[in-house]
Amino acid sequence: MFSRSMWQASPDDSSVYFTFDDGPTPEVTEWVLQQLDNYNAKGTFFCIGSNVEMHPTIYDSILSQNHSVGNHSYNHLNGWKTDGDTYVRDIQRAEQLIQSPLFRPPYGKCNFGQYKTLSSKYTLVMWSILTGDWRQDSSPQEIIDKVDKFMLPGSIIVFHDSVKAFPILKQVLRDCLAIAQAKGYNMRALPMTKEND
Ligand SMILES: [Zn+2]
Repeated sequence: MFSRSMWQASPDDSSVYFTFDDGPTPEVTEWVLQQLDNYNAKGTFFCIGSNVEMHPTIYDSILSQNHSVGNHSYNHLNGWKTDGDTYVRDIQRAEQLIQSPLFRPPYGKCNFGQYKTLSSKYTLVMWSILTGDWRQDSSPQEIIDKVDKFMLPGSIIVFHDSVKAFPILKQVLRDCLAIAQAKGYNMRALPMTKEND
């Protein structure tokens, strides 16, 4: 079952991977880039194609600052509610804008057929820690505690550089970066390479 999805990066090194979904978003993505820079950290941005189209300059600044990017589809479709052809076409449309072998399914949802089609071309990147920063009722302290408790070598942590998540993100990201730093982890971007089968 989805055996080639990546839920955690190689635990061989002392790195953790901060990832940001749903941008690029004016103000929010720029704020995230600044925080990463403050902690000498690199991140991975799973971008929505339609947002890249609207905000190409922000997208370019992600890459020029040596972070990595992944495809997060063009229209943020839910794979469980979308037929295979429509789903794959939407990702191909995003491919015109986002050149990366990394893909993260919106909502973490795709069915086995979609997975099989995509996994020949992409590394499907899932996560080890989902912060829940997009939920309005999330407790910032609980998010910080969860990240502190579950962070391990190779952890892939999900945040969102979206308008919806920003109120919570603003309260948790710096602390999470500080935790990683205090634990002695390198905060690295996921390599933009296709995993071998
Ligand atoms: Zn998303």
